[in-house]
Amino acid sequence: MERKARHVPQRTCIVCRAKKAKRDLHRMVVISGNIEWDKFNRLPGRGAYVCKHPDCIRGLEAMWNLQRFFRKSSAKLVKDTVEQMQKNLNQVHTTKPQE
Ligand SMILES: [Zn+2]
Repeated sequence: MERKARHVPQRTCIVCRAKKAKRDLHRMVVISGNIEWDKFNRLPGRGAYVCKHPDCIRGLEAMWNLQRFFRKSSAKLVKDTVEQMQKNLNQVHTTKPQE
């Protein structure tokens, strides 16, 4: 076979619409009405993806397109979800110990 062996699955960021490798995105799923971060890529169900970028994570807070994506107008983005992602970003960029 001539095909390149390594196929990287791509997903679209729902905020900026860029296509990226799955590992460069955060996955979210709806759990009992709440949109939560699937931190370890383990949760079942339909996922939405967002870049590991502060601008995109902040963009999540304008959540109308999230709800549309999940087709659940009742799905709520938990504030924690955004905060956890932002915290995670900070950890990646600076390994400053917490006070
Ligand atoms: Zn994005």
